[in-house]
Amino acid sequence: MDHVTKRFGNHTVLDDISLTVHRGEVIVVIGPSGCGKSTLLRCINALEKIQGGEIKLGNEKIEYGSKRLPSLRQKIGMVFQNYELFPHLTVLGNIQLAPVKVQKRNLAEVQAEAIGWLDRVGLEGRENSYPRELSGGQKQRVAIVRALCMHPEILLFDEVTAALDPEMVREVLDVMLALAAQGRTMLIVTHEMRFARAAADRILFLDGGKIMEDSDPETFFTHPQTERARRFLSTFQFDNIKKL
Ligand code: ADP
Ligand code: MG
Repeated sequence: MDHVTKRFGNHTVLDDISLTVHRGEVIVVIGPSGCGKSTLLRCINALEKIQGGEIKLGNEKIEYGSKRLPSLRQKIGMVFQNYELFPHLTVLGNIQLAPVKVQKRNLAEVQAEAIGWLDRVGLEGRENSYPRELSGGQKQRVAIVRALCMHPEILLFDEVTAALDPEMVREVLDVMLALAAQGRTMLIVTHEMRFARAAADRILFLDGGKIMEDSDPETFFTHPQTERARRFLSTFQFDNIKKL
């Protein structure tokens, strides 16, 4: 992202943001509610039009409404808080839809890959279930598998555990930790601070439309540079964060 500005009317949500995400990097974005975290991810996927600057994936410009956008978007996996699974399709139906219809890949090959991933995220035997038959944590793991089966170059996660009951948060975070350990390129918005510290290569603290801090997790959590970050962190419970 190079000098990206995003406004809604007169409200500047992203104010001249520049950010480079390197291949294999895991970046966790944190910041107070309304500071623009979701907007940042949505701009990367060109779900939002930007008013200034540019966003590139590799050497290709990501432009709202451009002809190249549909094929570029296939390289950007996005997982949302509310899963966005199709209720009338099975787990497998949801996962295989885009790889087969959009990427024109072989059905049997996509299904084999999907079932392999479902096994690895603890959903063996659930391929023919419907979303309504799954818990929130299971649905979110299906949504992650669906994103992975597109073979994206970067994965964007927007508060994917925020709607889950506490006992289901862990199973989803564990999948994300495993993906991080595999060297996937990930940009993660979360309020799970222990997870952030364990998974991130870099922490970005966003506030007032700016990246206020961009540092390694150890530095961020032990010596935040700004008063705003210190105040933000003080609202979280860190009982045993040292153990991570
Ligand atoms: P966060 O994800 O950090 O909580 P958001 O990116 O959702 O924040 O929102 C950032 C700001 O932009 C908020 O003030 C929000 O009200 C505003 N905003 C988000 N989407 C829209 C929209 N479609 N139209 C107008 N304002 C919006
Ligand atoms: Mg948000």
